[in-house]
Amino acid sequence: MNVVSTVVGYPYIGENREWKRIVEGFWKKELTEQQFEQQMKAIRLEHIQRQQALGLDLIPIGDFTYYDRMLDLAMMFNIIPNRYNNLLEKESALTCYYAMARGTEQAVACEMTKWFNTNYHYIVPEYEGQHLYVTENRLLAYFLEAKEELGLLTKPTLIGPYTFVDLSKGYDEKTRAAFILALIPLYAQVLKELVDAGAEWIQLEEPSLTKSLSSKEARLVEEIYKQLTEAVPEANIMLQTYFEALTNYENLIQLPVAGIGLDFVHGKKENLEALRKSGFPKDKVLNIGIVNGRDIWSANLAEVASDVQAILNLSNANDLWVSSSCSLQHVPVTTANERKLDSVLLNALSFADEKINEIVHVAHFLSTQHWAKEGIVSESMECIRALATHPVRNNARVNDLVKSISNQDFVRLESFEERREIQKTALGLPDFPTTTIGSFPQSPAVKKTRAAWRKNELTNEEYAAFIKEETARWIAIQEEIGLDVLVHGEFERTDMVEYFGEQLTGFAFTEKAWVVSYGSRCVKPPIIYGDVEWSEAMTVKEVVDAQSLTSKYVKGMLTGPVTILNWSFVRNDIPREAVANQIALALRKEVEALEQAGIQIIQVDEPALREGLPLRREDWSTYLEWAVNAFKLATSSVKNETQIHTHMCYCEFNDFLDPIRALDADVISLETSRSHGELIASLKENPYELGIGLGVYDIHSPRIPQVEEMETILKESLEVLSKEQFWVNPDCGLKTRQESETIAALKRMVQAAKLLRDSS
Ligand code: GLN
Ligand code: ZN
Repeated sequence: MNVVSTVVGYPYIGENREWKRIVEGFWKKELTEQQFEQQMKAIRLEHIQRQQALGLDLIPIGDFTYYDRMLDLAMMFNIIPNRYNNLLEKESALTCYYAMARGTEQAVACEMTKWFNTNYHYIVPEYEGQHLYVTENRLLAYFLEAKEELGLLTKPTLIGPYTFVDLSKGYDEKTRAAFILALIPLYAQVLKELVDAGAEWIQLEEPSLTKSLSSKEARLVEEIYKQLTEAVPEANIMLQTYFEALTNYENLIQLPVAGIGLDFVHGKKENLEALRKSGFPKDKVLNIGIVNGRDIWSANLAEVASDVQAILNLSNANDLWVSSSCSLQHVPVTTANERKLDSVLLNALSFADEKINEIVHVAHFLSTQHWAKEGIVSESMECIRALATHPVRNNARVNDLVKSISNQDFVRLESFEERREIQKTALGLPDFPTTTIGSFPQSPAVKKTRAAWRKNELTNEEYAAFIKEETARWIAIQEEIGLDVLVHGEFERTDMVEYFGEQLTGFAFTEKAWVVSYGSRCVKPPIIYGDVEWSEAMTVKEVVDAQSLTSKYVKGMLTGPVTILNWSFVRNDIPREAVANQIALALRKEVEALEQAGIQIIQVDEPALREGLPLRREDWSTYLEWAVNAFKLATSSVKNETQIHTHMCYCEFNDFLDPIRALDADVISLETSRSHGELIASLKENPYELGIGLGVYDIHSPRIPQVEEMETILKESLEVLSKEQFWVNPDCGLKTRQESETIAALKRMVQAAKLLRDSS
């Protein structure tokens, strides 16, 4: 039997984020276009060589991008919005490309949105009826480059037509089919040129085929692949699905392509069942996505090999590929540069390079029935065992605490209606109270002082004194502005998850484990590898200090359990729900500590609540139930008088009002200034009763809005919300803004709230 090792894609950022530096160097004009191209080529080839050296049989190309792969395709097919045309004419294609991604003075950027249920964000192509043609076959250039320079036949990969259109905008139900079918000849041309240049396999990524499809959509998919394979019968297409099981398996498995790739990690159960029931076509290659492309944990090789063997027996396939479950772009490059991690943890980690190693070994085992390296299986199992028995995973106190959770722990003492009255008397806030989301500008001085402290150039006392001073300065500023509920400003935090992770048990922080969030922006998620426990107050000192300086209320400020979970790499030995509950219990202690210290308003941010939603709607309720409960577990032990706030951003709220209501938070502040109208419409249909602040201005822009604009938003909101429930606040935290613009905008916001009070 022929077994090929491959991956769906490899990270492009480089182990030291070289890619980011080149991209940003070009933006800052430190590199000419020619230097940029040269340096990009060098790392592109280097990444291929790395995978080659690791022993991978079939290496992808086209997984590399200059910003985003959806944007690459949009450029390749001339789906360039009209507003950038002059750039294309006057400047270079590259300038136009980055303008679409980032916007210019004259033309706003294309929309950016989440790539399925990952933390990666892609650029949404805008179809405006442009003349569609292949502007440049970039894939062919990459293919030839690898062939000529390295003597290697790679596997070109591109996002398939169904998914590409599914994720684009500018068409409706009626015009969708026509748009897709107009792209088929373009795909055919790209594929044909690749085949002519010697490509033996071409991977078309179709993750949208794991969503639910209507029968009409399923027929469209069949039509697409019928036309495409008729146009280029000579191309061997590997139709690659990931993130879930292939939907409509029985039909789609018959598509006239040479191979089908299935995700046997995230869609394991369903794909296996389908395979058992309907088998796998004899004439196709099965690509088994078996090594998890989204987590950072070493595979248990014995288990992986036996799973693959089982799949093989069920499928009867002759030719088999072993691969990652999805592109490895969602994991960091290599564990080799981590020098500070607990060695038990480090040994159990597997990033992209280590995952390729696993794939190569499993593929070798399958074709020869023996392992290439003696002891490799027992080694892999030993690493996993060592972590499982690590004290950090066996904290009896946390276990006891989790076991003692009862239904009452998820509910406040009284209903919202009762609490509202009690809080009204206890807090005595004016109508339309004004507040902010938590953070204030992190000035260069704040960043510099923190860096100095981290390098031990400042003592803990000196650093704390600086933070205290900055907080005091901003308390005075907030009083001057006239805000009703103040915040301490979060100057002690770089990142809203890291700050808590560093103080709780069970978290680890890497040095170089970066992944791309969008464009050149990378994040380094913490690793939750052990039981999470609260040991001492994490935020009380700063908030109490701030409260001592003012007679106004200062809000306590925490990051919620679900956000901490969703923005971390999470252990896989217990369910996510269990980890969420551990974090929630730790935060519950912090909430109680704040309350005991006299803080009467406490905000627990959950910007990532929606991000955790499963891809398929039918799975939403299971996730939402435990996620909402985790928030409630963290926030329900307080007195009726204590007001719990929460905040959410980066998401659509229109179909999310029910889960928001279920949180039972006394007040929620939402990011809405960019989608205000839609939310108002949803609120009309689905009235919301609890306290709510609809962000009145967009904090992502340096622009200072007029009082009248904010007033209009407030008045419109009041058509669907009552005076009793209504708060006035910006969209999100202000840490990335300048001091002067922050003060100016907030002053106008306070003024708008005053006008509203006067007129109602
Ligand atoms: N309290 C946080 C801040 O103001 C909230 C950040 C967020 O919502 N992303 O920075
Ligand atoms: Zn926010």
